[in-house]
Amino acid sequence: MKFLSATPPLFTLDEIEGHARRHFGLEGTITPLYSERDQNSRLRAADGTAFILKIANADEPFDMLDCQIGVLRHIERVAPDIPVPRVRLTVNGEKTVRITAADGRSHDFYVLSYLEGDLAAQVAMDAQTFRRVGAMQARLGLAMRGYFHAAAGNRDLLWDPRMADRYRPYLTFIAEPDQRDLVAAAIDRFVGTVRPQLDTLRAQVIHCDMHEHNLLLGPGRDVAGIIDFGDMLHGPLIFDLAGAVCDFITAPERVEMVLNALTAGYHGVTPLEAAEVDLLYDLVMTRLAITQLINAYRRSETPDVPNYMDVEGFGAADAMQALAALGRARVTAILRKTCGLPQSQPQANEVEELIRRRRKAMGSELYVFYDPPLHLVRGEGVWLHAADGTSYLDCYNNVPIVGHCQPDVVEAIVRQSRLLNTNTRYLGTQVLDYAERLTVLAGGELSVCTFVNSGSEANDIAWRIARAWTGAQGFLTQDFAYHGITEAIDAVSPSANRTGTLARHVRTLMAPDRYRAGPAGQDADFAGTCAADADRAIESLARDGMKPAAVIVDSAFIANGLLEPVPGYVAGVFDRVRRAGGLCIADEVQSGFGRMGQHFWGYQMHGVVPDIITIGKPAGNGHPIGAVITRPEIYDHFIRQSAFFSTFGGNNVSSAAGLAVLDVIENQKLMENAATLGAHVKAGLLALKQRHSLIGDVRVSGLAIGIELVTDRELRTPAAAETKKLVNLLRDHRVLVGSEGVDGNIIKMRPPLVFTRADADFALQALDRAFSALSAA
Ligand code: PMP
Repeated sequence: MKFLSATPPLFTLDEIEGHARRHFGLEGTITPLYSERDQNSRLRAADGTAFILKIANADEPFDMLDCQIGVLRHIERVAPDIPVPRVRLTVNGEKTVRITAADGRSHDFYVLSYLEGDLAAQVAMDAQTFRRVGAMQARLGLAMRGYFHAAAGNRDLLWDPRMADRYRPYLTFIAEPDQRDLVAAAIDRFVGTVRPQLDTLRAQVIHCDMHEHNLLLGPGRDVAGIIDFGDMLHGPLIFDLAGAVCDFITAPERVEMVLNALTAGYHGVTPLEAAEVDLLYDLVMTRLAITQLINAYRRSETPDVPNYMDVEGFGAADAMQALAALGRARVTAILRKTCGLPQSQPQANEVEELIRRRRKAMGSELYVFYDPPLHLVRGEGVWLHAADGTSYLDCYNNVPIVGHCQPDVVEAIVRQSRLLNTNTRYLGTQVLDYAERLTVLAGGELSVCTFVNSGSEANDIAWRIARAWTGAQGFLTQDFAYHGITEAIDAVSPSANRTGTLARHVRTLMAPDRYRAGPAGQDADFAGTCAADADRAIESLARDGMKPAAVIVDSAFIANGLLEPVPGYVAGVFDRVRRAGGLCIADEVQSGFGRMGQHFWGYQMHGVVPDIITIGKPAGNGHPIGAVITRPEIYDHFIRQSAFFSTFGGNNVSSAAGLAVLDVIENQKLMENAATLGAHVKAGLLALKQRHSLIGDVRVSGLAIGIELVTDRELRTPAAAETKKLVNLLRDHRVLVGSEGVDGNIIKMRPPLVFTRADADFALQALDRAFSALSAA
């Protein structure tokens, strides 16, 4: 990359002396100075006045020099008290002259006055000095406000934060993983959130290079000079201050002081706008990230060449860590205070912006939990962390069954991703290991497994398998079930259907809901009564000339309100369907993998064996995995009729993830944990029921927990509005739950199985408080 490796010109001192005399009429002692890409030297005349002789890099476009010289002349004219170098014209009154080097390349040569003072790098700077620097930077910005040069508008500058993502490929050169993550996160944040806002900020030509080697201090530590306009660009004014902050943070204990003092000084001259203040943290982080990426890249390219950015001690990485430790929210709060701006919730703006983007890119009707919605950024075990730093106990999500970002599962995914990820058209061990593990768990005749990518797909394939096997068309489901999103499965998901119509081949079965059934729910043969509804459904199909191909049952009856098993009910339905020639599908998307506590599969609670098992959600702990497990003859029959193949289903990485999930469930005895904690939660909820009349029914199977809320216990009047309020109140108590059921009056809790007793008590306490708050309101 040329912009990372331009070499400076190499004139001899004699040559430089000759050019200075001939073109600028200057004579004196010449001393070379360091420059990254130009050749700079100082000429001190006999009368003590000094000049900087600048020979530009051969690659430097003349335009840019013209722009730099132009700005210095502009500042001299509009703000003569700002200490910037003055431009010395040639003996012919020109701003620059072209000179040729020994290698034949020609360079622009120009001369500036030399400013006396101590480099800030050599001075101990205190808060007062930083305030002066901030104020001077703001004055410089004001002076440059009326200046424009096209060259400043279209620069391709190494340091321009707007180019941040072009350095992403160099991330691999940062050896330390945590630091690499921090840098990557800063770039992501910049690209995703910051860059889209930049065009709305006030912009002009800015110096954009205030650091301790470009700043001179005089006696009393007054600003005596600002030099080097080579990184000047047209961009948001706030880049100036962000750059200074980034360069002057040179010790962890100085972070707050430098931020505050520079900002206060700047704001005293040019009041900052709220949008600028709120972006400052991210802009500083981005620039620190770029610094490290360029540095790491240069070091890797030329390990033997000393790098001027290789500072001893505190560097960009340390500055970044120090800032990250303070956090965006705190830094922004400090800056807002410094600028006398109200302490807004920076989150509110951010959430609004995300909602706006979401509506635009994902449609305006897409449902989001909570009002205001939650912006989550990290998960860990049973905890979810929001962008504003708040942590929530996740009692809602059943997908991360072994805990959010479970390290063994993450590691398995990473390891296999590095090695190979392809499909089941090739031989491979991972998918076989996984299929064997699952079929052993299913046991008996359910000995073949095929893989897809979601619960919906698994159910869809199960349905096709059943159709192929039976040659029948009818499909039975529970009256408020949910099984997925494909057309075929949506037809048996009444809970998702807002049209109120049922496909011609579908019949729904009444749910075995003891609580809703009232006193009848306690009858000895409640199960038999409910199961008999299958006879009615099968007869109804027959009247339309159809037989049932399958019945699908969610063993946990989640959508129906997390019903506890009614012994004999599912067996009764399965018997009837089988007698009519149909297959029985156990949808284990919610109830499988040990959630129900007593058994690995939910159907085992009902004392049945299905013909087909479908799995999804928790199988990959967040990695998309779906599977269908059935008898070999049923599956083979299907495959003979359809060249079924899923590109991603059963890929090496998914299989590795699935295996790791099974290992964790087994090794950490999570099923047993679900049983123990389920009992603990149930006892706690029954105690709450004594005190809160809103609780009508408590239903717990392992860690599938339903609390049905009613406004009248006698009439069992669904308390839908109260349920909604309770869900939001619990959020305020840092516990995430959902709602469920035909009337939306059932609190749904399905925490990751790594839930502990302390987590359960935290949730119970929050519920207690939320119920109290609700009844007091
Ligand atoms: N079956 C059941 C019982 C479910 O709860 C769900 C998802 N909530 C599905 C199937 C569909 O799974 P997916 O969203 O992975 O397609």
